[in-house]
Amino acid sequence: MSVRVRFAPSPTGLLHVGALRTVVFNDLFARGHQGDLLLRIEDTDRTRYNADSEKEFIDSLKWVGIEFDEGPHVGGAHAPYRQSERKEAGIYQKYADQLLAEGKAYRAFETAEELDQMREFQRINKMATGYFGGDWRDASAEKTEAALAEGKPFVVRLKIPHGVKIKGVDSVRGNLEWDGETVDDPVLIKADGMPTYHFAAMVDDHLMGITHVFRGEEWIASYPKHIVLFEAFGWTPPVFVHCPVIVGTDGKKLSKRHGATRVLDYAAQGYLPQPLKNFVALIGWSPGDEREVMNDVDMATAFNLKGIQPSPGRFDMEKLDWMNGLAIRAMSIDELEAALKQFIADPWTTEYWTTVEEPPAGKNPKAILKGLKLLESAFETQPEFVRQVLPLEQQRVNTLADFGTACEFFLLDEVEFDSAAVAKAFAGDHVKKLLGDMAYQVSGQNAMTPAECEAMVKDWASANGFEKIGPVIMPIRVAMTGQLSGPGLFDLMSVLGPQRVKARFERALEQIG
Ligand code: GLU
Repeated sequence: MSVRVRFAPSPTGLLHVGALRTVVFNDLFARGHQGDLLLRIEDTDRTRYNADSEKEFIDSLKWVGIEFDEGPHVGGAHAPYRQSERKEAGIYQKYADQLLAEGKAYRAFETAEELDQMREFQRINKMATGYFGGDWRDASAEKTEAALAEGKPFVVRLKIPHGVKIKGVDSVRGNLEWDGETVDDPVLIKADGMPTYHFAAMVDDHLMGITHVFRGEEWIASYPKHIVLFEAFGWTPPVFVHCPVIVGTDGKKLSKRHGATRVLDYAAQGYLPQPLKNFVALIGWSPGDEREVMNDVDMATAFNLKGIQPSPGRFDMEKLDWMNGLAIRAMSIDELEAALKQFIADPWTTEYWTTVEEPPAGKNPKAILKGLKLLESAFETQPEFVRQVLPLEQQRVNTLADFGTACEFFLLDEVEFDSAAVAKAFAGDHVKKLLGDMAYQVSGQNAMTPAECEAMVKDWASANGFEKIGPVIMPIRVAMTGQLSGPGLFDLMSVLGPQRVKARFERALEQIG
C-alpha cells in the first residue's frame, strides 16, 4: 500500500514553526516513500475560523518549498479538501447516522447550562470532568424520540465502551491503553450539524486513504476516542505518530520569546528555506547518526519513524543561525546575488522590518532597513564592486537581512566611525604618520592584491620599529571600516581599491585633526 499522509491544519491564524515541523515530517515521509502528501483544511470550528489563514498556510509552505499532491488549491481525487465543503456535501452525516442506527452513538439533548452544572458538580466532587453518559447515553428510545419531537437541539456523541480496555499503538511511544470509563463520550456532530475534529478528521483519514497520521502529542489524550471510532466502523486505522512538543532552550514550551515562530517571519529575517527545513526536521527527529546538515534528498531518505523521539524537541535559534550561515557560505556568488536581490525586492521584507514590534534579539530594524536600501542601490550603481564585496561578508553573516549592515562600510562614501573604535585605535603617537604614509603609498596605484596590501603594511611596521603588527593594523582597520572588527583587512583593502582606500585614510586623518 503506498504511503498517503496529510497536513490537516485548522485555519485559525498564522502558520507557526510547530505546525511547520508537522508538515516537514509528513513531507519527508511522503518523499522518502514515493507517497502522496495532502493538504486538508479542517475548518469545522466556525468560531475560530480565520478567512486569511488558508492562504497564509499555502504561501508559507510554498516559500519553504513544500508541495502538495492533493489539496484545495491543487485538487485531487478526494475533493473537496475543506471540511466545511465536505459537510455541505453530506459526507459526515451519513456516517453519523450509521453509528446512531447501530447504537454506537447517541443523541444528547443537554442544554449549555446543564452541561455547565454537570462540570461544576464534577469539579466540586473532584471527579473526572467530561461527559460520561449524562441523561442520554442510556435513555430509552421513547425519551429520545420525545425530545426530538419537541425540537430540542442535540449533539451526537460517541458511546465509548465501558468495562473494557481501549488499546492503541503510537509509533513513537509504543502500546498505549486506557480504561473505557476514563474516556468521556466525545461529540461527533454539533448542534448546528457541523462535525467535530474527532469525527471529521477520522472519517476523512479513512476516506482519503491516509496511512500515517503525524500530529502533535497534545492529541494523545483524544487518541482513545479515535481508536473507538475506527473500531465502530470496522475500519483499519492509520499508523498514529504523535510528535513531541517543541520547547525552547530553557525547556519551556515554545513561544515568541524564543525567536520568531511565524514561518513567514523567518523569510523576512533572511533565513533560507532549505536550512530552515533541515533545522525543523531535527526538532524531535534524528537520522540515527551524527549527521545534522542534510539536503532534502538525504533527509527524505533517512527519515523514519524510529528516529522520532518522545522527549521534547529543542528549538535553538543559535543552531538555526549556524545552519543558515553554512547555507549562505555554500552559495555561489550568482546564487547569493539573486537571493539577495529577491529578498530586498520582496515587499514583505520591508513590511516586516518596518512593523516588527519585537525584533529578534540583537537586530535593529531601522539599521537593517537602511543597510538593505543601500545594498539595493549599490546593485544598481556599482554592481561589479558589490560582487567583490559580497564574498567577504558571505563568510561572516548568517542571514540575508544582515548583508545590508555588514556591507554598509564598503558602500558608504564616508564610513561612520564608531566612537569607541576611534578612541581605541587612533590614540597612538604613530597613527598620524602611519595613515599619512599609507595614503601617500596607495596614491596613483590602479589596483592592489591582498598580498600587496599586506606587504605594504608589514614593510611600514618593520621600517618604523613595530615588532607586533597589532598597533599598525588596528588604526588602518578603523580608517577603512569605522569599526574594530570586520573581514580580513588585506582582503577588504584590495576590494576597496586604491582610490577608496586613499580617501578613507585622508578622512581618518581629518578625524584625528
Ligand atoms: N486540525 C488539527 C489541528 O490543527 C490537526 C490535527 C491532526 O493533524 O489530526 O490541530
